[in-house]
Amino acid sequence: MSPDIESIRSQFPILGQTVYNKPLVYLDNGATTQKPQSVIDAVADVYVRCNSNIHRGVHRLSNICTEAFEEARRAVARHINAACAHEVIFTRGTTESINLAAFSFGESFCAQGDEIVITAMEHHSNIVPWQMLCERKGMKLRVAPIDANGDLDLEALGRLLNGRTRLVAVAHVSNVMGTVNPVARIVAMAHAAGIPVLVDAAQSAPHLPIDVQALDCDFMAFSGHKMYAPNGIGVLYGKESWLDRMKPYQGGGEMIEKVTFERTTYNVLPFKFEAGTPDYVAAIGLHRAIDFIGSIGLDAIAAHEHRLARAAIERLTAIDGLRLIGTPAQRAGVVSFVIDGIHPYDIGLLLDKMGIAVRTGHHCAEPLIDHFGIAGTVRASFAVYNTMAEVDALAAGVRRVAEMMK
Ligand code: PMP
Repeated sequence: MSPDIESIRSQFPILGQTVYNKPLVYLDNGATTQKPQSVIDAVADVYVRCNSNIHRGVHRLSNICTEAFEEARRAVARHINAACAHEVIFTRGTTESINLAAFSFGESFCAQGDEIVITAMEHHSNIVPWQMLCERKGMKLRVAPIDANGDLDLEALGRLLNGRTRLVAVAHVSNVMGTVNPVARIVAMAHAAGIPVLVDAAQSAPHLPIDVQALDCDFMAFSGHKMYAPNGIGVLYGKESWLDRMKPYQGGGEMIEKVTFERTTYNVLPFKFEAGTPDYVAAIGLHRAIDFIGSIGLDAIAAHEHRLARAAIERLTAIDGLRLIGTPAQRAGVVSFVIDGIHPYDIGLLLDKMGIAVRTGHHCAEPLIDHFGIAGTVRASFAVYNTMAEVDALAAGVRRVAEMMK
């Protein structure tokens, strides 16, 4: 059943505003989503009712917050179908999750001459931490190519896997082209060679149903703020069998079992990887965001966003000189384009004056943008609260810009 978009929109106070006297058309959801009132209220409620540092307290408020934080962890585990809650590590977001994985996995399982395989469509967050590992250890970063449509070349990826490959790190969904990568197949290919896989789910967790056990991925990273939750909270999922054998990332409070000046022993999962005070308030907000997503259903969300993306593509490609960047076989609700002779930044600025928020530039995927030989793209990215009328406004706005700048 189609979700009731007007009723969903009414839960997002920010969407009701005007920008330059025009109704706000917010199409920058790939960068961050807006927050429903239930999430905003959950955050305020912690500060009004029970704020207190977690885990170490003997008092009532600390117990309430600790229980809510751990309940949030269980909600995330259910949401991605993790085998157990302690496979869910709270981080600040996808970037920190991948840095944690790259450091701790690297320290524990990688040595000089080893290789990490990524793809040509990765976000900087899924390139640079691996590059840093390679620099630290004298390892090699191998890059699986994409074809002209923006689909991953699976055969070429397969050819990169060898006895020196320690891990494959791949985006579930490209934040530039919307390409949905066949991660289950990639995992099967890598596992056949005994290689674990990390999935960057920053752009899929808000939009597609995810089952880490069915995918059988070894690690998965995503950010709360892209899935209707507050900023400052993210997740690294990892299989217990890997996490247990990995060295800690940061040292400090919470991650220890016993500290003496001579020697420290480490806490059990998940705390071993959660040094210091976590953003328990944002984690509690993330729980409400998962409830919000659950109240609609990710299948319905994906279908709605897919309809919007299809309509956007149809209307945008009818505009003279407009070229899509990425025409993948399977696409999530992300559409990138360029217009001959007009800089993406100028398109973004002019759309902004019409109240339309899109993102322009390299989208933190410079190697991909270089691959297409362009300066950047204009990107519209959809969320569940976007409407067909907003797609029409985008297309009309882009058409006006194209005519003005001719
Ligand atoms: N990976 C992908 C595919 C992304 O789209 C993003 C955010 N644009 C990130 C990683 C990084 O996410 P964050 O900034 O929330 O850490």
